[in-house]
Amino acid sequence: MNAKPKFAMYWAASCGGCEIAVLNTHEKILDVDANFDIVFWPVAMDAKYKDVEAMEDDSILLTLFNGGIRNDENERLAKLLRRKSKILVAFGSCACEGCIPGLANLSPVGDIVYTAFNTITTDNPNEIYPRTTVDVPEGELHIPTLSKVVRPLEQVVDVDYFMPGCPPESHQVAAVIDLVIDVIKGKAELPPKGSVIGVGNSTVCDECPRTRNVKMVKEFKRIQDIAPADPTLCILEQGVPCNGPATRSGCNARCPQAGAQCIGCYGPAEGVIDYGARLITAFASVIDANTPEEIEHILDGIPDPTGQVYRFNLAGSLMKATKSAWEKA
Ligand code: SF4
Ligand code: SF4
Repeated sequence: MNAKPKFAMYWAASCGGCEIAVLNTHEKILDVDANFDIVFWPVAMDAKYKDVEAMEDDSILLTLFNGGIRNDENERLAKLLRRKSKILVAFGSCACEGCIPGLANLSPVGDIVYTAFNTITTDNPNEIYPRTTVDVPEGELHIPTLSKVVRPLEQVVDVDYFMPGCPPESHQVAAVIDLVIDVIKGKAELPPKGSVIGVGNSTVCDECPRTRNVKMVKEFKRIQDIAPADPTLCILEQGVPCNGPATRSGCNARCPQAGAQCIGCYGPAEGVIDYGARLITAFASVIDANTPEEIEHILDGIPDPTGQVYRFNLAGSLMKATKSAWEKA
């Protein structure tokens, strides 16, 4: 009997939601088991890094890598899995564009650690902070060293495919699993290297059923402040910043369909070079103002502009991080 192709999944700087999205494919997960030999998946099975190191280069057919690169362990595993894998997929928003952990790129890493160990609920009178090495009777222990900034996978190793989403929708994960199984069976071909997979080719607006009337807004508000919201009219036209115009389709406009604005978890739409810049342009296009002061006043209605336009994408944006995050440790 021919050996089954090998499958791996790894998480770096992420929350674990991408792993849940894979498990949420329900019985489809049995197809993964039936068609692949799962050799490395720390969240689901016990396997050691040295087991991966002992494998031949290119011996894993498919690795889904979720999470951004936040420390030297993430980077080591990214390079190791790149070497061992024929197909490396940046799986989920963190691996594709940094996602929420990437917002840490607004601050120097030293400030982040200081803040984490000095909150109101943290009792740290002796100013104790994590050390990367510590001596214990059994020897020297090492914990990973934080890097200056969070980097998407592509900024560290060559990536074959990108599958965005926070997390990727389970129906899209299932479709990609089906595609890879068909490729293994010779019934389909892989898309060109570098493709974004498990998504649509347009924007969330294009799959959103809400009506657009090109209505201009005089102020931006939070969604809870427009009650009762019109359930059929475009949320942006009701004055709530909705990220649909710059965001890649593929989720079936899940949030606007449920009555909430899109926050951009599927990342930049096809052809968008900088997500935040595209979004600001989209917001500007619905502002009803005649003077710069009026424009400024309306934009002040967005309480956290960076979080609004770069919530998922700061580490993958043209800017990537603030100057102080790059320069200070
Ligand atoms: S801006 Fe939001 S609510 Fe309006 S059409 Fe686009 S996705 Fe739908
Ligand atoms: S509507 Fe926007 S935030 Fe909601 S799932 Fe789709 S891409 Fe993500």
